[in-house]
Amino acid sequence: MESLIRKNIQQLIAYKVDAPQFEIIVNANESPYDFPMQLKRKFCDDICNTDLNRYPEACFPELIEAITDYTGVPGEGIICGSGSDELIAMINQAFVDPGDVVVSHSPSFSMYDIWATIANARHMMVPDLPGHLPDVEGMIAAACQNQAKLLYICNPNNPTGYIFSRTDIIKILDTVPSLVILDEAYIEFFGESGVDLLEKYPRLLVLRTLSKAFGLAGIRCGYALGNKEIIDILYKVKGPYNLNVLTQKLAVIALKNRDAILRNLEILKAERQKTMRVLETFPGLTLYPSGANFIYFETERAEAIYQALLKRNILIKRFIETDATPGSIRFSMGKPQENQKILDIIKEVVYNEA
Ligand code: PMP
Repeated sequence: MESLIRKNIQQLIAYKVDAPQFEIIVNANESPYDFPMQLKRKFCDDICNTDLNRYPEACFPELIEAITDYTGVPGEGIICGSGSDELIAMINQAFVDPGDVVVSHSPSFSMYDIWATIANARHMMVPDLPGHLPDVEGMIAAACQNQAKLLYICNPNNPTGYIFSRTDIIKILDTVPSLVILDEAYIEFFGESGVDLLEKYPRLLVLRTLSKAFGLAGIRCGYALGNKEIIDILYKVKGPYNLNVLTQKLAVIALKNRDAILRNLEILKAERQKTMRVLETFPGLTLYPSGANFIYFETERAEAIYQALLKRNILIKRFIETDATPGSIRFSMGKPQENQKILDIIKEVVYNEA
């Protein structure tokens, strides 16, 4: 079998995640708040009136209309995917030939690297400067010197929570020859989108998702916003019916009822501030400011904290220490009592082993 597999796939590790069996799950930056029951009922009614024997709309017109209403971007500048993950895959399929250069900074979202590997691209991950400040000049140099096809700006960044300044985003857009992917998966937690830059920059593509602030990771719905020319190219590689009818219906309900759903944003942002303030008082943690729904810190006790939480049935994300980087922890905001429980356990670990 080995000889049949493409060489760059042989070393890849499959993304297989066990079904979560934990009391508190804060490892994947999801919302802790489930979709409102009255909207689930509305969804059930809609489905009862839908012919499920038919294929879904291939180009999701109702969903596109709802996204236009939310973002202000005209329909010709929108395409949807089964999560923004699928859109990242499509971008690679459409634009990246084997050997092409893709630029990001490190650490950032892991799927950029996985899809670059699958495309057989050369992924240049420019290491952050001290304090996890992205090396913007380094990213620009890497993109310009190598005629990069793609450059990723994850804003706010997963996993560090870093917020790129508008000046830096514009500097990148003004200088690099690549397609610039502005991944705004967590933008609702920060509030200042770069969507308005689409008018001036035809090589910009903004990625969004309903998996985070909208609390709909379960339905797999992401969308890309760009100028018509790029979106038309992405349609060339889109699978025929990539968004099933259930996802399309529920996503439209979510966007039309966004005021009710996005009310949770304020609670989660307040929790982030409160949790951060407590963590700042603990010894041995290097915390980074976050514009997203999660908190990231480095500590020599990352593994001990991870294990202590696991023992209490709580799942967070930990990044294992390497020669170049210390161990670190990322966890998203749960409900207030869940965050308190996490803080209590971290406190136990940091004071017991101090
Ligand atoms: N971009 C970033 C920065 C993310 O953190 C995630 C999810 N962890 C995604 C994209 C993908 O989100 P989804 O496929 O659920 O839309």
